[in-house]
Amino acid sequence: MARTALPRIQNFIDGQFVEPISGRYLDNIEPATGKPYSQVADSDAHDVDLAVVAAEKALADWAKKPAAERSKIILRIADLIERDLEKFARAESIDTGKPISLARSLDIPRAVANFRFFATAILHTESEAHITDNVAFNYTLRQPRGIAGLISPWNLPLYLLSWKIAPAIAVGNTAIAKPSELTPMTAFMLCEIAREAGLPNGVLNVVQGTGPKVGAAITAHPKVNTISFTGGTVTGRKVAETCAPLFKKVSLELGGKNPNIIFADADLDAAITGSVRSSFANQGQVCLCGSRLFVERPAYKEFVERFIDETSQLKMGDPLEEKTEQGAIVNKTQLEKVKFYVELAKKEGGKTTLGGVEPQPPNERCRDGYFFPPTIITGLPVSCRTNREEIFGPVVTITPFDREEEVINYANDCDYGLASSVWTQNLSRAHRVAERINTGTVWVNCWLLRDLRVPFGGMKQSGVGREGGEEALRFFTEPKNVCIAK
Ligand code: NDP
Repeated sequence: MARTALPRIQNFIDGQFVEPISGRYLDNIEPATGKPYSQVADSDAHDVDLAVVAAEKALADWAKKPAAERSKIILRIADLIERDLEKFARAESIDTGKPISLARSLDIPRAVANFRFFATAILHTESEAHITDNVAFNYTLRQPRGIAGLISPWNLPLYLLSWKIAPAIAVGNTAIAKPSELTPMTAFMLCEIAREAGLPNGVLNVVQGTGPKVGAAITAHPKVNTISFTGGTVTGRKVAETCAPLFKKVSLELGGKNPNIIFADADLDAAITGSVRSSFANQGQVCLCGSRLFVERPAYKEFVERFIDETSQLKMGDPLEEKTEQGAIVNKTQLEKVKFYVELAKKEGGKTTLGGVEPQPPNERCRDGYFFPPTIITGLPVSCRTNREEIFGPVVTITPFDREEEVINYANDCDYGLASSVWTQNLSRAHRVAERINTGTVWVNCWLLRDLRVPFGGMKQSGVGREGGEEALRFFTEPKNVCIAK
């Protein structure tokens, strides 16, 4: 049976919406229904080539525009996204399966904040001067690097892509962005906004499509000299391999298996509520989610009981319903991965104390959607696969511990090092533990409290480099020393 034509998500190159050269499109599935609701350009290296030509053409004018003018345009982008916040939030919810309330309160406001932050940051930069005794005077120029390739994942689509686009173009680069082909919609909508805001043609180009075709072509293109990538560690390794022989500047924000440590002296009410959020926000599909919970033995029993109780009250449902707190998993592959790990946990000796089986669909519309309930597993050894590998779904493990030294070892005994949380009322302990945990961010008595000025990134296999604030401005510019003899 012929189906009605679905809306098409095209590429945005040189300020125009264009078909992929191949003419091919992929179905874009709504996770909550399991059905295609739009189609996304299945672009390839030829489309990337066109985007590079556009970005190259736009570079000189954009780079020499006064910061105040670039700032004004980027602030306009922020205002326009804010004007359309509801439209963007709905689109993000449909595309990803996340609850609309989360898209409205977190994803889209953060995208607005990212543009505002970097649009104003460039008005307040300073540069260094070094005086060489009586011999010379040095000053540092920080110039745009050229064309930036920006690749982002599906879990926080506009939030993460804008975190890259905003600093890249604010300092005067032009950009080629690629969202995940699973969640292309809000990047597409952003292009319309960029046009309306008066962003010159070619400053931002969005090439839609898959990682192996578009992502790989961006990272391999010799004229794209700066790559900011957020995604999984395995993909990050491929990106690094491609970029290394070309000597590109690369920032990699990768996976995590984050520890969440609860000491017996913690404010348990806050620790439980905070841990429910850090475990299951966005169905556990946030790279910063705390998926390994360690609870000091005197508080273990009470924590586990109350944590299960509070988690079981999370309302799973149609992502577009206002009261929904747990939406759909992004796609079938990810759902299968989550189910695989729940089975693996059982084989490794774990006890599923909540969740673990696919639920009834929340309504008729979502009959074929990809849902999985918050799942809590206890009784696993710290070193098992379930406790070491990133699941990226609504599954956490809880393990008791007896001593501070022991839990620091547990936390660090992992290939990843993205983020951690520590819950304690003992200030000295908070400082002590924070200093010794090998993660790029340590939250004490909080989670996902983000100040856009702080350095953000991971240690070990969670990434290379830092973004955020000054770090991002530095990443996207080239420092040049000018030495003037006296
Ligand atoms: P992937 O690594 O699969 O994909 C990330 C992006 O890279 C997508 O746009 C993808 O395209 C693209 N890509 C895939 N293959 C290549 C390639 N060979 N060359 C260049 N680009 C490529 O990650 P997911 O989308 O599955 O996202 C989940 C992962 O992201 C998790 O591991 C999570 O921890 C991590 N993440 C890290 C964050 C951090 O700040 N450290 C924040 C958020 C998520 P396509 O989707 O089309 O294949």
